Amino acid sequence: MNQQQRSAFITIVGIPNVGKSSILNRILGHKVAIVSSKPQTTRNRITGILTDGEDQLVFIDTPGLLKPRNELGEYMVNESVPNGDVAVLAVEATGGVRKGELSLIEKLKKADMPAILAINKIDTLKNKKEELMEAILAYSGLYNFDAVVPISAETGEGFSALLSELKKHCVEGGHFFDDDALTDQPEKVIVSEIIREKILRLCDKEIPHGTAVVIESLKERDNGMMDIEATIYCERDSHKGIIIGKKGAMLKKISTYARRDIERFFDCKVNLQTWVKVKEDWRNRRALLTNFGYDNKNFE
Ligand code: GDP
Repeated sequence: MNQQQRSAFITIVGIPNVGKSSILNRILGHKVAIVSSKPQTTRNRITGILTDGEDQLVFIDTPGLLKPRNELGEYMVNESVPNGDVAVLAVEATGGVRKGELSLIEKLKKADMPAILAINKIDTLKNKKEELMEAILAYSGLYNFDAVVPISAETGEGFSALLSELKKHCVEGGHFFDDDALTDQPEKVIVSEIIREKILRLCDKEIPHGTAVVIESLKERDNGMMDIEATIYCERDSHKGIIIGKKGAMLKKISTYARRDIERFFDCKVNLQTWVKVKEDWRNRRALLTNFGYDNKNFE
């Protein structure tokens, strides 16, 4: 890792329709990569990555700030609060603070997370100055926001300010993803998330915290079949033994379940090969790292 490179994990929260997806799309431009078109098959927790020089902004879904419904969701809440380096609370200027926003703010408080207030849709305001003032007063009374940025995902106004606020939350320690990670191969992240999810479900609860899945290669054949090689890294020999299981039974199960989901996700036949390795020298911020799919270079 290049230690001068910096990164931040960011989560955009807000009630429905305030423009969260539009904001992310505006930030990522054409680089939007992971869209959870089939959320039932994977957690898809990384929603986008923007690498700008030394700074890498990794956008994540924070299930802990949403309402989990299923069994897996329950698990995610327990695991993932607090999550990320900074939150963006997206709101609209008009109509006052909504009830749902109050509970989001409560969750931010509990997680003690730095947050930026992004007041979206300012292109729709008639008395911009007054309406913004009112919104700023109302929201800043509820939380100690690091910054307040009026924006329009529609026109792009305010986004350079928003980006520079986000970059302030980057911390040194390297990039977690290739600079072109999600323009090139979003598939790798999805696949690694799917495999990791199977480990979480099938293995002992203790193991997944020290586990990471690295997709060594992912190639599509002319006939549409996909060849995938994945390495599961864990912290200890004993973990390795558990993940592999008796005569390889557990690893086989993980691989089979994962392959089925990957096939469903990409709608093609998949040849999945998995290895398990012990890697002890984890870098700092391991807690965050182990929650995500990421690539090889972070382990060299
Ligand atoms: P989400 O549910 O929070 O992800 O919200 P969306 O991104 O889906 O946006 C909800 C609606 O608001 C969509 O119809 C968007 O086109 C619209 N919208 C989002 N941002 C803006 C904005 O800055 N200005 C205007 N006028 N409309 C916006």
